[in-house]
Amino acid sequence: MISRQCAQCSYDLSGLVEVGECPECGSSYNGRTGKGLVDVENVEQRFTERLRRVRTIALVIFAFIAMGCAGLGTVIAQNTGRMLMFGALVSVVILMAAFTSYLYEKDDT
Ligand SMILES: [Zn+2]
Repeated sequence: MISRQCAQCSYDLSGLVEVGECPECGSSYNGRTGKGLVDVENVEQRFTERLRRVRTIALVIFAFIAMGCAGLGTVIAQNTGRMLMFGALVSVVILMAAFTSYLYEKDDT
């Protein structure tokens, strides 16, 4: 049994008929389509969206770490230009991944 809540007033609708009206605020709901309901699925989806946001932020941070490492690498590297180029390249790739991650944050799948 899925726990269901009214999307309007958060009234607990579990145990009630699948399609009907909220006894608390009178707004109609449909347990089959999820209309007018806050159910477990929605909560999971919100959790997934949050995870995707964290992934995006982590990738951005990772890109800056890569840049920082390249910057530090120039201290010991003989070919500093190549080191910076490599660092910039890695950062751009990670930032592109972060951007892609950001674009797919709202994706349902
Ligand atoms: Zn309600």
